[in-house]
Amino acid sequence: KLPPIDGDFYDLALQLTPEQRKIQIKVRNFMEDEIQPIANDFWNRAEFPHHIIPKMAKLNIAGLAYKGYGCPGETFLMEGIMAMELARVDVSLSTFFGVHSGLAMGSIYLCGSEEQKQEWLPKMQRMERIGAFGLTEPEVGSGAAGGLGTTCKQDGDTWILNGNKKWIGNATFADVVIIWARDEDSNQVKGFLVRKETEGFTATKMENKMALRTVQNAEITLDNCRIPESDRLQNANSFKDTAAVLKMTRAAVAWQAVGCARGAYENALKYTKKREQFGRPIASFQLIQNHLVEMLSNLTAMQTLCFRLSELQDQELLTDEHASLAKVFCSMRTRDVVSRAREVMGGNGILLEYNVARFVADAEAIYSYEGTKEINTLIVGRAITGYSAFVS
Ligand code: FAD
Repeated sequence: KLPPIDGDFYDLALQLTPEQRKIQIKVRNFMEDEIQPIANDFWNRAEFPHHIIPKMAKLNIAGLAYKGYGCPGETFLMEGIMAMELARVDVSLSTFFGVHSGLAMGSIYLCGSEEQKQEWLPKMQRMERIGAFGLTEPEVGSGAAGGLGTTCKQDGDTWILNGNKKWIGNATFADVVIIWARDEDSNQVKGFLVRKETEGFTATKMENKMALRTVQNAEITLDNCRIPESDRLQNANSFKDTAAVLKMTRAAVAWQAVGCARGAYENALKYTKKREQFGRPIASFQLIQNHLVEMLSNLTAMQTLCFRLSELQDQELLTDEHASLAKVFCSMRTRDVVSRAREVMGGNGILLEYNVARFVADAEAIYSYEGTKEINTLIVGRAITGYSAFVS
C-alpha cells in the first residue's frame, strides 16, 4: 500500500474546528468532483464556466470572513484555506472568486456606506451579483498610488469618469466594477460602484494570455460615465483606503500560491509513483526524491507562514508588510515548486491533461498580480529600514 499523497505534511488542518474542517472538505469535494473534470478544457478555450456560479454560491463561502450583510463571519484563516482549496484544483477559479469576494466585496465592506453595504453585499454573498475591481491601467500598474490616469470630476450630485483600465478580472460579465479614479480637483483617489449598464462603460475581453486563461480579464473604457454621488464609495477618501483592501486580499493571494504549489506537488507525486523507467517507479530514484522533498519543504514553509499570517489577520494585527512578505515569499516558492513538478514528469509535464502544466503557467500570474515581487519587496524594505525606495 502506497503512503498517502497530501500536501499538508504537518497536519495543519488539525488546527481547524470540526465545523471548519467540514467546510474545507465540502469545498474540496466540489472542486474535485465539479471543477477538476472541466478545468483544462475551459482554460484551453479561454472561456469561463458560467454554469458553476450557482453551484459555487451554494457553498456559502463568498464574503466568508465578513460580519453581517448575510456573510458567514468565519475567520480569515478559513478564508485563506478556501483560497488554497480552490487554487489547489484551479487557480483561475480561485482568482475569479478572489476578485469577486475579496477585491470587489472587500472594497464595499471596507469603504462603502451602510446603505451601499446593504444594497450590494447580501446579493454578492449569494453570488446573484458578481463584482470586479478596476485599479490597473494600460500605462499605470505598480505606480497606481500616485499616478492614476482615470479621472473623476464632480458635477452637482453626479461624477464624470474618464479613462482606461487594463487587466480587470471578471469585468466582461460583472454586474458592478469598483473603479478607482483620481479626483481632478483634490487629486485624491476615489472609488466608484460602476454598474455594467452605465452609458460610456465598455469592457473588452483580453485575448492571448498564457496564464489564468479561464479568467476573463478586460480592458475597460470609461467615456464620460456619469455616476451618481450615491454610487461613490463613501469611505474611500485616498489611496490609503484602496491599500487597506489590497492588504486584506494580498493575504488571500499568498494562500492562493500555496494552493497552486500544492496542486502541482500532489499531482507530480502521484505521477512519480505510477510512472516506471528502468523497471522501477521513478519515485524510487534519489534525484526524483530530492525534487519531491524540495517541493514539500517549500510547500510546508509557505503553509505554516500563511497560517500565522491569517492568525495575525484574525487578531487585527496584520500590517501591509506582513501581507507583502507572505505574498513575495509564497509566489517565489510556488514558482520553484511548479517547475520541479513539471520537471519530474518529463515531457508529460507540459501536457495539460497531466494536470501540472496549468499550474506552471498560472504561477506566473500569481507572481505578478496584487503587487509584483519588486513592489512587495519594497514595502517590506521600507518597513524594516525606515527608507522608502519607491520613486515618485
Ligand atoms: P509594471 O508596473 O509596468 O512593472 C513592470 C516591472 O517593473 C515589474 O517587474 C515591476 O516589479 C517593476 N517595477 C515597477 N516599479 C518598480 C520600482 N519602483 N522598483 C523596482 N521595480 C519596479 N489589476 C486590477 O486592477 N484588477 C484586476 O482584477 C487585475 N487582475 C489581474 C490579473 C492578471 C492575470 C494579471 C497579470 C494582472 C492583473 N491586474 C489586475 C494587474 C496587476 O495588478 C498588475 O499587472 C501589477 O500591479 C503590475 O503592474 P504592471 O503589469 O503594469 O507592471
